[in-house]
Amino acid sequence: MSTIIDGKAFSANLRGEIARKVSILKQQHSVTPGLAVVLVGEDPASQVYVRSKGKQTTEAGMNSFEHKLSAETPQDELLKLIDQLNNDPRVHGILVQLPLPKHIDEALVINSVAADKDVDGFHLSNVGKLATGAEGIVPCTPLGSIMMLKDHLGDLSGKKAIVVGRSNIVGKPMAALLLKESCTVTIAHSRTVDLPGECRQADILIAAVGRPEMVKGDWIKPGATVIDVGINRVEKDDGSTKLVGDVEFSSASEVAGAITPVPGGVGPMTIACLLHNTLQQACRLNGVEVPE
Ligand code: NAP
Repeated sequence: MSTIIDGKAFSANLRGEIARKVSILKQQHSVTPGLAVVLVGEDPASQVYVRSKGKQTTEAGMNSFEHKLSAETPQDELLKLIDQLNNDPRVHGILVQLPLPKHIDEALVINSVAADKDVDGFHLSNVGKLATGAEGIVPCTPLGSIMMLKDHLGDLSGKKAIVVGRSNIVGKPMAALLLKESCTVTIAHSRTVDLPGECRQADILIAAVGRPEMVKGDWIKPGATVIDVGINRVEKDDGSTKLVGDVEFSSASEVAGAITPVPGGVGPMTIACLLHNTLQQACRLNGVEVPE
């Protein structure tokens, strides 16, 4: 059986470290990091995410600013709010919860957030920095995944990695981070020929597809490390539902050296990394070092 990479424990530890650093920052520099979350509409999953982001932000000792707008909010009004937050010195991180309602131009909104407050790391300036290896803000889910990988494997250089999925939110930034760690990286997607064969060559397999249990145990190189980013809600025989990843855990855990479970793997790392990014930017924007 594989080693289980416990994202719940790892993220709790990371949040504890962040809270400790926030407390030092307050004492030594009178700076309290502030995260503003903007939710447009009533999407139930988004409401749950926004609630837990707010809770974990205040638990870390940071200021949480929540802005809930109706689904009919005109685009101009949203852009005006973002402009206010860009200019608010109490706010060091701005997150606009996606997806946005259809009448709003998502790319325009993402790129209206000040690049140095874009704690999601989706602004073109941060995407460009990651692509060129410059210091910028890294998207939270890939950042959490690379932290767990490095914690488990140490030096990643020379390892063969495959990222299944090429979205802007997960797949592409994940591949860029692995490349930065000197892995040899393959990016697979829906047009990849012989996906199981490609996967079988990888020492590190990242699944970010959005297809329940697509990656099977016999796609995995024995001993490989598997990071399952997928979060899929599926119906059980009795009509109730459960969460599963993009990897079939039962067969994969027989072959992999280590694997993240779903739930309790990558998921909890995402908010912890959001807090990490907010702390980093609070320090940068105030010209102080992140506390040790
Ligand atoms: P996405 O935007 O839908 O992208 C999915 C990617 O998978 C696409 O690049 C697509 O290829 C590829 N794909 C789809 N079917 C495939 C197939 N049969 N074979 C190979 N590749 C295939 O999804 P996403 O936003 O990256 O999210 C991926 C998963 O991660 C979802 O389950 C999502 O819920 C989860 N997620 C989790 C977190 C977290 O906090 N843990 C955060 C974000 C996302 P094409 O480009 O060719 O279409």
